[in-house]
Amino acid sequence: MNLPPPAVNADSREFWEAARANRLLIKRCDACAKVFFPPSYLCPRCWSDKTSWLDSAGKGTVYSYTIMARAPAPEFAARVPYVVALVDLAEGPRVMANIVGPHALETAVGEQVAVCFEDRSDGWKVPQFQRVPA
Ligand SMILES: [Zn+2]
Repeated sequence: MNLPPPAVNADSREFWEAARANRLLIKRCDACAKVFFPPSYLCPRCWSDKTSWLDSAGKGTVYSYTIMARAPAPEFAARVPYVVALVDLAEGPRVMANIVGPHALETAVGEQVAVCFEDRSDGWKVPQFQRVPA
């Protein structure tokens, strides 16, 4: 598969550079302690610009999911059907990612998942999740 690389910007560069090293970064507000995702310059709760990066353990619970049956772009045609899920990380934030790996299409709400890193072009990687056997 030749999937597109991530769209990197000033707010997300550190996140994507960490993903290249198999690390999942989230952010924590130094003013109000809210842990949040996606990464942004300002805290989404108190608008402070005093925020820090935090390494997530990459463990989460499936909050909801859908199965994509039609590719949103030609690059994804070989991938369908695939799972897009909302995953509640143990640290608090809810992230959207694909559930990949064995039996991904059997994903269920409430199930435990763990982060994995999917290779893209030029060494970029995208954090995705795999089901954790019960
Ligand atoms: Zn805050």
